[in-house]
Amino acid sequence: MGKNILIIGGGYAGIAAAKKLSKEYKNNQDITITLVDKNPFHTLMTELHEVAGYRVEPDSVRVPFTKIFGASKVNVSLDTITSIDFKKNQASSALRTYNYDYLVLGGGAEPEFFGIPGIKENSFTLWSYDDAMKLRHHIEETFEKAVAEQDRVKRQRMLTFVVAGAGFTGIEMAGELLEWRDTMCAKWLIAKNEVRIAVVEAMSTILPMFEEDLRDKVAWYMKQHGAELLVNTPIVGAEPGVVKLKDGSTLETATFIWTAGVTGCAFAESLDLAKGPFGRDTKAGESPKKNRKGRLLVTDEIRSVDYPNVFPAGDNLWFIEDEKPLPQIVETALQTGETAAHNIIADIEGHGAKKFKSNYHGFMVSVGGKYAVSNAMGIKLSGFFAMFMKHFVNLHYLIGVAGFNQCWEYIKHEFLDRNDNRSFIWGLGSYKTRGYWLLPLRLWLGLMWLFEGINKIGEGWLRWSEGTKSSWMFSSGVVQKGADAVTAASSWGETAAVTAASSVGEAAAPVMDDLFSMFDSAGPVADAVSSASTSSASTDTFKGVWDLSKPILDFNGKIATWFRTTFMDGMAAYIPFQFFQLMVVVVEMGIGLAMMGGLFTWWAAVVSIVMCIVFAISGLFAWNQVWFIFGGFLLLGGAGRAIGLDNWVVPFFKKWWNGTRFARKRYWYLDNPSKSK
Ligand code: NAD
Repeated sequence: MGKNILIIGGGYAGIAAAKKLSKEYKNNQDITITLVDKNPFHTLMTELHEVAGYRVEPDSVRVPFTKIFGASKVNVSLDTITSIDFKKNQASSALRTYNYDYLVLGGGAEPEFFGIPGIKENSFTLWSYDDAMKLRHHIEETFEKAVAEQDRVKRQRMLTFVVAGAGFTGIEMAGELLEWRDTMCAKWLIAKNEVRIAVVEAMSTILPMFEEDLRDKVAWYMKQHGAELLVNTPIVGAEPGVVKLKDGSTLETATFIWTAGVTGCAFAESLDLAKGPFGRDTKAGESPKKNRKGRLLVTDEIRSVDYPNVFPAGDNLWFIEDEKPLPQIVETALQTGETAAHNIIADIEGHGAKKFKSNYHGFMVSVGGKYAVSNAMGIKLSGFFAMFMKHFVNLHYLIGVAGFNQCWEYIKHEFLDRNDNRSFIWGLGSYKTRGYWLLPLRLWLGLMWLFEGINKIGEGWLRWSEGTKSSWMFSSGVVQKGADAVTAASSWGETAAVTAASSVGEAAAPVMDDLFSMFDSAGPVADAVSSASTSSASTDTFKGVWDLSKPILDFNGKIATWFRTTFMDGMAAYIPFQFFQLMVVVVEMGIGLAMMGGLFTWWAAVVSIVMCIVFAISGLFAWNQVWFIFGGFLLLGGAGRAIGLDNWVVPFFKKWWNGTRFARKRYWYLDNPSKSK
């Protein structure tokens, strides 16, 4: 009998559940999986501060559902659920009603204001993509306005940024502000010491949940960079432009960022389900202010205590483990989402459900793009290594969510597209070259290939009656020691005869000798220079002058001989030489024409590089030809789109490719998929 599984919310928990369920039921037509979200993308909540603080572009925290579920059986519905009838198993939006047999509730969390007067109305929060964008625009505008402000008090208020709460969110946000301040000050000619960044914390220390040594490091780093850390300073209220502190003093600011607590989401709170300490099943001994009100009470199988077919997961569930409620962190979301999916499968298949057991790996907190501290899997790190760890963990998550494509997006956003040195690799790799500078190279390389193909025709490669041919690439070659070698090797079928070392086993050991033989000649360089006795230095490798027209690998050396006998002769045994020669001529001319027209340039460049490498290993490529390989690498970077046909062809091809099932199934997208299912 068919079953409908409905997942509300495409956050960490919803995605984890959907992925597990779709994998399990990929070939089962009786199971329908629908994920409803009000956004068309999954938000990487752990990186929101980077968007708010202008470190990365907004797209870097949005992973489109079309990408995540491209070829899976999950139907994504862009909708907002407003009510659920648990008795009828129906969830409704303004647009339609969804029937379900099993429901996963992954509504997430929202900021908590603890009823403190004026906070909600006068603060920014950082708990959604929209929050991050609002804050980013506001800060940009505020700097711009402050420059023109003549009134000193108003200007100071604009240049004061107050972050409430020194938990993870608050510290990460303040860390971004410290970095962004430097760029903004340089841009708007503002003295750095005019900008005030204060973190206000009610407890006696920042990051109260962290180990002392690590939080000391964070405090030290932040103070070094000019942050004010006000601890033992509870905020008791706010008015427009003013933050009120418990001791009666105030802070005047145009940017008050509230990160002092989170609760379950309002939607979960509105549901007629048992809640945590604020609901029907209040646990004794919990001080209400510390508890996240409105989180849905679940059993150890991550089922709602009211309805066993309803599975609240992630930030909006309330479950006590080891006498503490589960923290609202990504690992909780992933693991509860996974348990919910496991137990839905168990119900459908009729086998035993499993009990939830958390398995946390640790914490990491970044302070801007260059500094972090972490305590993961028992290893404490700080600085570069902690930052490396943070990126590694993010990449590990992303490869599971949307494959290498999303990891590449992440690498681009975090490192390669940063142009203000705000990455832990100091902005290395971020400088961009304009495509049109590649045009002369592209045309020249193309012309060389075309000539190479035409030359081969001239040399008789298509005159079959002349027998087999072989030649150097892009030049007539060099005179080898024992010039007969080249001549002897000039025939496709005869190549094997030239060589003695015809077995791979024999060849393996001498490979190193062969490599070193290139450098053995280094001795004579010194000799030659000191004696100055060499008469033909320009033609003898390493005799005073390095003769660049010499082959990289000796044609008769062990490596080239091994390569030719192993691969080339192997091919010769199966392919008629006529076909091989025709293929080489056509491919060479094809590469040339493609490069010159800027058509499928990426592929042409790859084939060009591979052919050059094959020729090099075959002993038919000289030192002064290596630039062909590096030229090919340059063309990989979109050279055909600058004044070339790829300008039109590549977007068309990408759209077609991204729509194929193969690409969607394996996340082998080219950029972002533009086509939905
Ligand atoms: P939090 O609840 O962890 O921290 C809030 C801080 O605000 C606390 O230190 C609290 O003492 C302080 N505070 C509360 N009321 C205050 C007041 N009136 N005046 C001044 N200070 C006050 O909140 P968060 O940092 O947003 O984190 C929420 C959850 O998300 C946590 O579980 C956290 O672990 C997780 N998170 C993790 C990361 C990470 O792993 N890098 C990043 C962000 C959030």
